[in-house]
Amino acid sequence: MRLLLLEDEVQLRTALASGLREENYVVDESGLTEEAVYQATLTEYDVMVFDVMLPDGSGFEACKRIREAGVRCPVLFLTARDDVRDRIAGLDAGADDYLCKPFDFGELLARLRALSRRAGSTAELQIADLRLDPAKQRVERAGTVLALSAKEYALLEFLLRHPEEVLSRARIAEAIWADESGFDSNVVDVFISYLRAKVDKPFATALIHTVRGMGYVLREEK
Ligand code: CA
Repeated sequence: MRLLLLEDEVQLRTALASGLREENYVVDESGLTEEAVYQATLTEYDVMVFDVMLPDGSGFEACKRIREAGVRCPVLFLTARDDVRDRIAGLDAGADDYLCKPFDFGELLARLRALSRRAGSTAELQIADLRLDPAKQRVERAGTVLALSAKEYALLEFLLRHPEEVLSRARIAEAIWADESGFDSNVVDVFISYLRAKVDKPFATALIHTVRGMGYVLREEK
């Protein structure tokens, strides 16, 4: 799941981002509405979390702008203000849910799961005998549960969301490691080999294939 976090309080943003990453979200962070609107229209997110009061404008305005640009991704607002007028302004701007600060991290996770369910991004993903349940973050092949690290899981989920599609190293890196600076693209190859060891090697047929000079593809070869 890829998430855009717009919050200008650095301490809160850093804490939220690291908590969300532990829950296997791929998180892009921003502290400015301009930057967030740009990111939101450039990248496909599964869910977005917006603060309301920002140094260069309001989160409501940012939400309105991305809706006008055709972005349908669910947006949850983090607001210090529990005022009816604010809620109305937020709904008019195209918000999907609210959480008033201070909030419990567990509640944020539950709300995000609910939003993803409504958006249909928690439907089970499957190819051949490999199944991934995004709601439970559970992966199994031929009935055997596979133990994956957070990055391996994110990578496999990305592959499963683009079956039969040849994905370049750059595209995979952008989807999974966008939030890490100084990224070395060889890391994609390393993590593909980790995934193969768990997802393909113990089973009769391989699902992850290398396309020479292009990248990788997840497909069932018959
Ligand atoms: Ca703020």
